[in-house]
Amino acid sequence: MKLKIVEYPDKKLKEKSKSIEVFNKELHQLLDDMYETMIGSNGIGLAAIQVGHTKRALLINIPDENDEQSVDTLIEMINPVITHTSGVTTYQEGCLSVPSFYEDINRYESITVNYQDRDGNTKIIEADNLLSIAIQHEIDHLDGILFIDKLSYSRRKKFEKEYKRMQKEKKLHKL
Ligand SMILES: [Zn+2]
Repeated sequence: MKLKIVEYPDKKLKEKSKSIEVFNKELHQLLDDMYETMIGSNGIGLAAIQVGHTKRALLINIPDENDEQSVDTLIEMINPVITHTSGVTTYQEGCLSVPSFYEDINRYESITVNYQDRDGNTKIIEADNLLSIAIQHEIDHLDGILFIDKLSYSRRKKFEKEYKRMQKEKKLHKL
């Protein structure tokens, strides 16, 4: 089932998500629904908080060189923790919860992440490039942080103005 995505400035997005202790059917259903929601919204990553669940779960599905997202490369992360970082990289990020806005954000170039899969098995992944960026973006969501929170003061002011105008225009077009 496709779920409704929580959008900025909804305060829900500022909440800190809680660790997952039980790996049951309910969790699997949430992950399946999150996948449907992410793909249906043309996203490459989604955190549970973005569909209103304050649980430390996220999905990442990086497109291949033909820009296709295969379910074979879907990564589900429960309770992820970054244990090692190196380098710095900049990427123009967007977010399903902040529609139609993109901005350059600095992230670690490479990271190592410990996490659990949907059955509670412990996993380790070393990630770089877009995968590394996407994981950092989604883990931020679990801590109530949005990519726009990383903008400079003046850029943030400009964003708030632009975003408000876009929201207004969206309403006008809804007949
Ligand atoms: Zn996001």
